[in-house]
Amino acid sequence: MEVSFSREVQALRLGQGDVFRGEGILAITKALLQSGVAYVGGYQGAPVSHLMDVLVQAKDYLAELGVHVEACANEASAAAMLGASIHYPLRGAVTWKSIVGTNVAADALSNLASPGVTGGALIVIGEDYGEGASVIQERTAAFALKSSLVLLDPRPDLGHMVRMVEEGFALSEASSTPVLLQLRIRACHMRGSFVCRDNVAPAMSARHLTEAPAPFDYTRLSHPPSTFQHEKLKGDARLPAARRYIVDHHLNEVFPGGRGDLGLIVQGGLYNSLVRALQQLGLADAFGGSTLSMLVLNVTCPLAPEEIRDFCLGKRAVLVVEEGQPEFIEQEILAILRRLDVNTPIHGKDVLALAGEYTVEVITRGLAAFVARHAPDLSLDAGQAWLKANAARRDAVTTQLGAPLPARPPQFCIGCPERPVFAALKLLQQDIGRVHIAADIGCHSFAAFEPFSSGHTILGYGMSLASRAGVSPVMSRRTLAIMGDGGFWHNGLLSGVQSALFNGDDAVLVILKNGYTSATGTQEIISTPDHEHKAHARDKHESLVHTNRAIERTLTGIGVQWLRTVDSYRVDAMQRTLREAFTTDFAGLKVIIAEGECQLERQRRVKPWLARRMKSGKRTLRVKYGVDEDTCSGDHSCIRLSGCPTLSLKASPDPLKVDPVATVLDGCVGCGLCGENAHAATLCPSFYRGEVIRNPNWRDRLAARLRHAVITLFQPA
Ligand code: SF4
Ligand code: SF4
Repeated sequence: MEVSFSREVQALRLGQGDVFRGEGILAITKALLQSGVAYVGGYQGAPVSHLMDVLVQAKDYLAELGVHVEACANEASAAAMLGASIHYPLRGAVTWKSIVGTNVAADALSNLASPGVTGGALIVIGEDYGEGASVIQERTAAFALKSSLVLLDPRPDLGHMVRMVEEGFALSEASSTPVLLQLRIRACHMRGSFVCRDNVAPAMSARHLTEAPAPFDYTRLSHPPSTFQHEKLKGDARLPAARRYIVDHHLNEVFPGGRGDLGLIVQGGLYNSLVRALQQLGLADAFGGSTLSMLVLNVTCPLAPEEIRDFCLGKRAVLVVEEGQPEFIEQEILAILRRLDVNTPIHGKDVLALAGEYTVEVITRGLAAFVARHAPDLSLDAGQAWLKANAARRDAVTTQLGAPLPARPPQFCIGCPERPVFAALKLLQQDIGRVHIAADIGCHSFAAFEPFSSGHTILGYGMSLASRAGVSPVMSRRTLAIMGDGGFWHNGLLSGVQSALFNGDDAVLVILKNGYTSATGTQEIISTPDHEHKAHARDKHESLVHTNRAIERTLTGIGVQWLRTVDSYRVDAMQRTLREAFTTDFAGLKVIIAEGECQLERQRRVKPWLARRMKSGKRTLRVKYGVDEDTCSGDHSCIRLSGCPTLSLKASPDPLKVDPVATVLDGCVGCGLCGENAHAATLCPSFYRGEVIRNPNWRDRLAARLRHAVITLFQPA
């Protein structure tokens, strides 16, 4: 990727007593090094991409320490990498976005959890849940429960999060259990500081090689009958050892409140939001001092029964603040208290929302209901007034607009190479009729929104082709699967292409080859243009994805016989190729590779290059499209076919034209789609292509003078 993390890499070198300042996820990265991690792997995905991005760029420093970094092909390979900690005293960490990544990793994760580990194994989970999430809304907690893993959910405070990483490794070793460290989106991106310790070089590493592999030990294999013993060990030894460690090292925290009779049990990750909600209700001060006592669960699995008992005993009521469903923690607390014959009333999902992110407002409502029931003497006036004011503001907006505030879904970047493909698809379907479209994960899923409204299903990353296997046989028209190059390498090649070829399926697959896993932050993949080409292209200003043919070679090698490569921006050519794929007599798998470099990554390369040229007085040229407002008919079909955010509307300067006219805003990167669409869909001829030249040379000046003279001749002022 073109983004440099040199400042972050420097932060990783901080030593004893230095103060780290930065984002939560970078603090976690530093904590891994302070813990003596020997290897790190992972698959990118918000909100934990930064961890791998920074470590990949810090390879030189990590080599000094002897820490190995592996950018894994998917989460399954990352989880399998933790196998190194089964036999060897190696501390290892991997990372991915959950729940989707944990789903992909599930097989290896179960097979790791079964024999358990010798060296500490930490899985840094980006829990992509709530308002900013981009995936299905489920919780990683289910995996921790089913596989008897430890699940940490640290209170969002950088120093505390760092401590939990270090404790996480020790806990993993004390209980032979892999540990999941769950980080919510906000915890990853919050900023703060902590006092560092020195990084610890691992004792066994690429710098200190070991002579012999571990002796054969059948009991460390996930293989029956060993697996029967593993299951017993989990319940009889490992989880009890984990509970002992949690209690002995005070991993969970009790914050006594002014009133001892009411308590709150909260997932560590929700602590900040809970304190803010208490403040809104007038039940906490600005420093977090609360009227109600709190048990903060920095470890949500396993729970330590004696901690739950001690906290609940003697209280009039306790509220469990647990985000998402099902309410695993609440159920377990109820079971623990019942077994220990503690009869404190427990509330949770009866007063708090069952689903969705626990924002401050959501928690405030639940807290208000809980307090009103069990402590009517406490005044909640301030909080109720705040809740009412929020509702009134929303109502006022709705009244003003005549409808609720419209949603603002994300969309393709300006000039994205994937937008033209969906424009071509839209035009094609006007001719041949609607087709079933199996969509996928990635930037192209933005096509689900207006103006394309495209895609019937999304079954996972790289799963589009596989997901149409049951649809194809019942459709009179061929089905279409769309995946990105990231999805192709993540899972699509094996789950989709191999299966379709093996079964002789008649289907069409479009692979959007933009050169990166763009949706996760433009990380590099095996089909990314190499750096030699990138350096070369700085002078050529060109798209680069054609320089790497790994996808084409792989498809040909595996037996794909119908393969076409089309420039993404050529709407007409794309439409023709799609039509051919849907109408050809060839009955096997037809693959179209839509080639166009991710515009975000391209602009990151091109913009600094242009700026440097401009500054040094060299000629620079920028292409920009525009709309002739006199010609624009005002029907806006160009916008319905493009959706580019820079293609907008403005009031018509012509008093005889009532409708607003189309206009191109300044952000246009000159991708050419406007011209292509106008041509392919035979739109009004209002678009023009302009070239903005800075530091013009003598030829440019001469051409400008000639043009000006001719125009003045035929169009006198
Ligand atoms: S990141 Fe790249 S591929 Fe994704 S929407 Fe932006 S330009 Fe398109
Ligand atoms: S040419 Fe059209 S689609 Fe491309 S960036 Fe400019 S306005 Fe957007």
